[in-house]
Amino acid sequence: MIGLPVLVGCAHETDPARVPSSAYQGPWTAQPYYYLPTGMSGPGAQPGSAPGNIPAATYQATQHPAGPAAQDPAQPGYPAPAPATAAPPQALPIPTPPSSPPALVYAALSSEACANQLAARQLAVKPYAPNKATRDVALPVQLSGPLNGVSIVMNGAKAPGTRGDYDVLDCRLALSLDDWTRELGRRGVRVVRHASLLRPGAVIRRSGKPSQHALGLAIDVASLELQDGTRYEIQRDFAGAIGAPVCTEQSEPQARWLRSLICDTHASRVFNLILTPNYNADHHDHVHLDLEPGKTWFNLH
Ligand SMILES: [Zn+2]
Repeated sequence: MIGLPVLVGCAHETDPARVPSSAYQGPWTAQPYYYLPTGMSGPGAQPGSAPGNIPAATYQATQHPAGPAAQDPAQPGYPAPAPATAAPPQALPIPTPPSSPPALVYAALSSEACANQLAARQLAVKPYAPNKATRDVALPVQLSGPLNGVSIVMNGAKAPGTRGDYDVLDCRLALSLDDWTRELGRRGVRVVRHASLLRPGAVIRRSGKPSQHALGLAIDVASLELQDGTRYEIQRDFAGAIGAPVCTEQSEPQARWLRSLICDTHASRVFNLILTPNYNADHHDHVHLDLEPGKTWFNLH
């Protein structure tokens, strides 16, 4: 077993005090799919009502993160916040989200039901013997091969599931990754490299609350490689600016490809939360994607 230190979670991923109150207000402002409780504001928001495509009965309005927008100060080497005088960016066209968000379905599964799903899908996923590092993971598993032709490997590794405790995830995240890799495969992706899956004891900075990484329910994607060898690195190619909207047209083809993927992923509702380099400096080199049981909204920052 590889001993893992207690790490601080990646960048305030669900810290309510740090999630901008405007949430994500991309191209869907005419038909918001996230709920803005009474007292909050946003284009198209209708306080007290559930989003159009999520059954109201499954939608809990009391836990939406609220709070003032907050940004980390610029750090050396990181692009400055978007200039206030820039012309309004053109929004990307975004697919209509599904009527039954997969993230809500998966996050609500019991370990037994999730294991049954894994078996039914015949995924390249193997059980992982619980140990101290996996103490907060409901059903620890490891990838044992590609999902839908896409290998998800840790930075520096050659194959999925070869980095011991670092390469562990909860069963429910494996279902989300199965869905996601289907879309990645359509886009020609062969390899996804991650900087982090399980981080035992990881907490969200400032709030001190458990990070989804501590539960094996989050992945930090650092780069993607296509079948033809083309490689997209978040740090190099995302063209981030802290505070800028994510789903906008980009001049550089690499950034355009990444934004299209990320925004379509958000629309697919396979993950609850997606944090990009536009969120804060801590995310300058990766995109965080997670599942959060009990959370019924979706954010992209
Ligand atoms: Zn993360």
